Amino acid sequence: MVYDKRSATFYRNKISLSTVNGRVECEFELPADSPTPYEEYVLSEDYEFRTSTLQYDQDTDEFYFHVKTRKIETDGEAVEIEATDDAEHQTVLGIDLGVNSLAVASTGTFWSGNEYDHWIQEFEKRRVEMQQRGTQDAHNALLRLGKRERAWRKQYIHTVANEIVTEAVDNDCDVIIFEDLTDIRERLSHADWHHVWAFRRLVEYVEYKAPERGVAVEQVEPDHTSQRCSHTDCGFTHEDNRDGEQFQCLKCGYEINADYNGAKNVGLRYMRKRQHRLRSSPMSGGADAPVDVRVNGGMLNGNGYRPTADS
Ligand SMILES: [Zn+2]
Repeated sequence: MVYDKRSATFYRNKISLSTVNGRVECEFELPADSPTPYEEYVLSEDYEFRTSTLQYDQDTDEFYFHVKTRKIETDGEAVEIEATDDAEHQTVLGIDLGVNSLAVASTGTFWSGNEYDHWIQEFEKRRVEMQQRGTQDAHNALLRLGKRERAWRKQYIHTVANEIVTEAVDNDCDVIIFEDLTDIRERLSHADWHHVWAFRRLVEYVEYKAPERGVAVEQVEPDHTSQRCSHTDCGFTHEDNRDGEQFQCLKCGYEINADYNGAKNVGLRYMRKRQHRLRSSPMSGGADAPVDVRVNGGMLNGNGYRPTADS
C-alpha cells in the first residue's frame, strides 16, 4: 500500500498512518546504533520525503515500511531522482556486466575485476587449508575468514558502484542502463558463478547510489548483447562475431573489444526501446526519440555518431 505525505506522519520513534479504521500509530524497530538510516534520511533536513509503501509479510506476520526520500541541494533546489519524462531528451550510459571484465561502460571505461578474482581465489585457498586442519581453532578461524571475505567483497563492489555513478555524472548522463540479470546464471559458465553474486550486488548498489546524484537507473532485456554488431546502421547478429575478447562483425568487418561492444549495445537497446515507445505513443507525433548513448569520444543516436566538442 502506498502512502504519501498526507497519509503518513513521521515521529522520532513511530509513524501515524491513516487507514480505513482511522489513524493507526506504529512503533518502529530501529537499529541500536545512531545515526540510523531513518535518522539520516527521514528525519534529516537534507532529505525530503517522497512516498512510502507499507508491506505485509505473510510468512512472518510482520509489517515493513519502505520510505523513499530525495536529497535537497544546498540552494534549495531538489535533485530530481525520478526517471525523466518521456518527452525529455536523455543521455544514457550503457553498462555491460562482462564475460571478460566485471563491468564496461559505453564510454569505454573498464573495471577489469582481476583484483576481485584474485582475492576470491586467495580466500578459497585459505578456506581449503583450514577445512583440512579440522580443529576447533581452524573452525573458528574459518568463520572469521568468511566474515572478512564478505566484508571485503561488499567493499569492493561498493567502490566499483561509486565509480560507475561518477562515470555517469562526469559524462552528463541522465540514466545508467544495465541488462536484466534474471537469466544471468544460464548465460554465464559455471566458472563465473561468483560473478553472478557480484553483478547482482553491483546493480543494487548503483540503484541505491545513483539517485542521490541525480542519475536514474534502468534495466533492459538482454538482446544478444555480445553477438550483435554495435556499429551504426549494421546491427548484424551472429555468435561467430565474437571470439573471446575480440569482436569482429562478419558482415561489415567492424572490429572492437567484445565487452565494449556489449556496453554500447546495452545503451542502444534502451534507445531502440524508447524510440519504439515514442513512435507508438499518439502524444509524440512520431518524432525521433531524443536519446543519446554516451560512447567513447562522442554520442550515438538514431542518426548515427556525433563526436563531442572536446574530442
Ligand atoms: Zn557490423
